[in-house]
Amino acid sequence: MLNEFVYCPRLFYYEWVEGLFAESADTVEGALRHAKVDKGPTAFPTPEAAAQAEERIHSRSLTLSSERHGLIAKIDLVEADGGLVCPVDYKHGAPRQGDEAPELWDTDRAQLAAQALVLRDNGYRCDEAIVFYVATRQRVRLPITDELLAQTAALVQKARALAASGQIPPPLDHSPKCPRCSLVGICLPDETRFSAEVEIVDDSAPAAEQLTLFTELPATPGRAAPAEVRRLVPARDDLRPLYLNTPGLRVGISGGVLQIKDKDQLLQEIRLADINQLNLFGHIQLTTQALQALCADDIPVAYFSMGGWFYGLTRGHSLKNIFLRREQFRKADLPWFCLQLARALVAGKIQNQRTMLQRNHVEPPAPVLAALKNLVAQARAAESLNALRGIEGHASHLYFAHFAGMIKLSEDPPGPSAIAYQPSAIPGPQDASVPAANALSAIRYQPSAIPEATQPCSGDKLSPAGCAPTSQPARKPTRESAQFTFDFINRNRRPPRDAVNALLSLAYAVLAKDLAVTALAVGFDPYLGFYHQPRFGRPALALDLMEPFRPLIADSAVLSAINNRMITPGDFLQAGPAVALKPEGRKAFFRAYEQRMDTLVTHPLFNYRVNYRRVLEIQTRLLARYLTGEIPRYTPFVTR
Ligand code: SF4
Repeated sequence: MLNEFVYCPRLFYYEWVEGLFAESADTVEGALRHAKVDKGPTAFPTPEAAAQAEERIHSRSLTLSSERHGLIAKIDLVEADGGLVCPVDYKHGAPRQGDEAPELWDTDRAQLAAQALVLRDNGYRCDEAIVFYVATRQRVRLPITDELLAQTAALVQKARALAASGQIPPPLDHSPKCPRCSLVGICLPDETRFSAEVEIVDDSAPAAEQLTLFTELPATPGRAAPAEVRRLVPARDDLRPLYLNTPGLRVGISGGVLQIKDKDQLLQEIRLADINQLNLFGHIQLTTQALQALCADDIPVAYFSMGGWFYGLTRGHSLKNIFLRREQFRKADLPWFCLQLARALVAGKIQNQRTMLQRNHVEPPAPVLAALKNLVAQARAAESLNALRGIEGHASHLYFAHFAGMIKLSEDPPGPSAIAYQPSAIPGPQDASVPAANALSAIRYQPSAIPEATQPCSGDKLSPAGCAPTSQPARKPTRESAQFTFDFINRNRRPPRDAVNALLSLAYAVLAKDLAVTALAVGFDPYLGFYHQPRFGRPALALDLMEPFRPLIADSAVLSAINNRMITPGDFLQAGPAVALKPEGRKAFFRAYEQRMDTLVTHPLFNYRVNYRRVLEIQTRLLARYLTGEIPRYTPFVTR
């Protein structure tokens, strides 16, 4: 851990104090190299025996500790010769190129010095340590001096004090170390510094120091937040969610591969390494062995009813971040904090609803856009959560009253006659406060593009319900189609009573699940929210987080599924008062939803492009920063 502290104090804090760890290409390669040389521990002589040994002795995988310094050293190899011992460590990379000869990296120097400290503390004579760099097959020696050991002991104290402080250090400032750091996706260094704005201005503060152990670097002058935020994480994840929604399927596992069977017939095999979620709709059986493997790989399993009701999640016990949850519980008890955050979330949602209408409505209703703009301002100044709920409800009435204007089916000839609504039915500025829920009937017009260009999605290989190419052909209506239409009057639910509402309910359930999964991965308790109040079984924080994303992801996926004819009226069935999707229709909807999730979008704050799934994670991590006080405010995601 000392080398992590030297690399970056924040990295040390994440790994040592918060117990976070993530693999990177470097860590995987390093572990493989160590596994090659680690043949299991071998005997090592006592200090007295080592001092008198006449032959050179090699001991591998030696673990020693020093109570005085509070250190445990795991040493790849120790050579004992002529009364002296020498620790040898294997590194998969190359040494630093010095002016005269190859040199040790500062992190390696710290690690070897700590090993020497422990050896000396156990009574051995140690005057030299060696690192063997595998990439260049070079040995680089480190003379062990009293000065070096004193500096190392001081460094240990410094690391210990940081761990005890309970204060995570700020991220390094535009450091070239960050792109190689395994925790860069968790740390979000540039985003955190940018969001902290002028709060982080002095890099000479001890906690922000870029430790170089024994090299004197010129002090970094104090500066404001970085002007440019680097995108240090991939724009999209290679892993995909897997959806299964055929009742009666059985999911087992064999050698890290999920096997999906219908009775005894094997339908499909999917590697665990290719998925990041398993979503089960209805009665699908999962073997204990498969569930254990999913938990071990930290792949959450989400359960839904056939109607799309989100029952809950199973995941492995990788929740270690008690510090974040402690802050979450503390802040959720502060009414002013809840109101401040809820204002931002609701204002973001209304702003995005307005943008949706502006971009997608057949004839964007100016008075409604003005009313929504006004409601954004009201939400930002709401005096209580109850007042905010009223503002949110009012905005939703206006938005859904005009939602039909965004449904544009291609079978009707374009032209004024195809438009079934009367602009005069839209409330004017003077009556914008009156919900106009019944003012519109369905609008059929030419197909429209969804705001950001959709990207081809490579998930089809995972599942018949995985992602589909954007060029997927429109599906033909069936004879049963006549029973259902995509006419939309208003939002209704529990149960949804028409086709569009059935799609919207499913979209919100799947989005809530995605945000519950993301909240858990970041370290939150998804059941404790700030705007949505706790209720048994309700993922209140996920519902909070999803407010600004409802229009951008869920509504947009629904409109895309209808307008691009990925879903047809024949995909629905009547179940009592409820309208629900048939399995084929659900499958088609998941394609539309995953396409939307995979759409690249420019982050309005950081100005780089990532897909929506990545945006959900970034926003959730920013909320964590806000809760722990690292950034002064939470800015919701809004599209321009
Ligand atoms: S990403 Fe950069 S600032 Fe963050 S922990 Fe890694 S090295 Fe430190």
